[in-house]
Amino acid sequence: MIPVLETQGLSKTFGGLAAVKDVSLRVNPCEIHAIIGPNGAGKSTMVNLLSGQLRPCAGRVLFQGKDITGLEPNRISHLGIGRSFQRTNIFPTFSCLENCWLAAQSRMKNSFRFFRRSERYPEVRERAEKGLELCGLSRHAHTRADALSYGEQRQLEIGMVLATEPVFLLLDEPMAGMGREESGRVVELLGRLSRDYALVLVEHDMDAVFSIASTLTVMVNGEVLASGPVDQVRNNPAVQQAYLGD
Ligand code: ADP
Ligand code: MG
Repeated sequence: MIPVLETQGLSKTFGGLAAVKDVSLRVNPCEIHAIIGPNGAGKSTMVNLLSGQLRPCAGRVLFQGKDITGLEPNRISHLGIGRSFQRTNIFPTFSCLENCWLAAQSRMKNSFRFFRRSERYPEVRERAEKGLELCGLSRHAHTRADALSYGEQRQLEIGMVLATEPVFLLLDEPMAGMGREESGRVVELLGRLSRDYALVLVEHDMDAVFSIASTLTVMVNGEVLASGPVDQVRNNPAVQQAYLGD
């Protein structure tokens, strides 16, 4: 199977600190590939390398077999890699639908200049509505984003990523700070999405990871400690000792 996304020997150094060291990963179609590891392990740096927010010092990123190493974030987004951030990234005074509009338009040129006229672009509206529907917030289309609960705001963020019509999703701790019920809703949402999308999920919530991910990569100090099918990695003694044990 040709992986959707592959990294080969990816490395990133900040000053003297190797945040990501020689990481090689493969993500297959319709796979949830979770990356776990303690704080500072290099997970967000990996996401930033994949989305173009950071340039690697060494190694390559291949997307659908094409070398995308070092491309600008907007070029990478145009290719169909959508990402969320560890902190929420919504426009609080805009409605949910408007937030999705903005996201949908971000894949078009001059996106902000045309925002106020976006009603005229039916395909943008369609994409925005689809994003809202997929993330389960259609009923809140005209609700201001800051009136949503925290969990719903994180859901909206995923909707905004989906409104860009990605083929591949990068989600950095989408369940951070959520209660059981809210994270349960996101788990359900991700499960549904995995039918159509490949995704890389950085997550702290182990129960969530084990219930939805098919592949698991454990990072420690910028390096891959173990990677493979979830059950195999979960029972790896080095993983148990280094991460799950604490
Ligand atoms: P994680 O997401 O696993 O918690 P990060 O990828 O955010 O880890 O960070 C990995 C390491 O790289 C940490 O030691 C962090 O302090 C460092 N780091 C991350 N981003 C930067 C940056 N922009 N400049 C300098 N150091 C950074
Ligand atoms: Mg992080």
